Amino acid sequence: MDEHLGERLKKLIEKSGFESIGAFKAAELKVEPEVRAMCAVNTCQAYGKNWACPPACGSLEEYEERFSHYLDGYVFQTIAQMEDAFDFEAIEAAGAEHKRRFHLLVDETRDFGSATLLLGAGHCSICPECSCPDAPCRFPDKVYPSMEAAGLLVSAVCNLADVPYYHGPGTVAFCSAALY
Ligand code: SF4
Repeated sequence: MDEHLGERLKKLIEKSGFESIGAFKAAELKVEPEVRAMCAVNTCQAYGKNWACPPACGSLEEYEERFSHYLDGYVFQTIAQMEDAFDFEAIEAAGAEHKRRFHLLVDETRDFGSATLLLGAGHCSICPECSCPDAPCRFPDKVYPSMEAAGLLVSAVCNLADVPYYHGPGTVAFCSAALY
């Protein structure tokens, strides 16, 4: 095992541009069926229609098993300012920036292989229209489930890492995680 993997991963997360980062113990992660139930409400219209989302992304039992192979993790955030609570333009821009940074991190950590496990934010939007469920994913090596799709309550993971989930009025934050 690379004893400096955690430090290297942290540096790459910082290099990707995320404003906030915190560390947690993987054993403290709690996979919660209620989070999956929230996905199933399908507010985002991606449930059953995206390979990065439930049910296509795998069962909660599979995620629990996968998490058990890791000791530590980081949660990291893109934080942006909004003009008001209805500033959807700022929210959309922050979400796009978070995805851009996340894909940068994916590329930078590709050599780590299964020594790290990345969890993104939201559904996969690489293709204008996802092929799920009718045809295989077009870019399976670029697809990462979100923290929620893996059954993690994002605010709970932020608490574990001592990172604010809410950064105050007029802010929006997108979160992702990396286990190692
Ligand atoms: S890469 Fe394309 S086909 Fe695969 S999950 Fe993402 S949007 Fe869907």
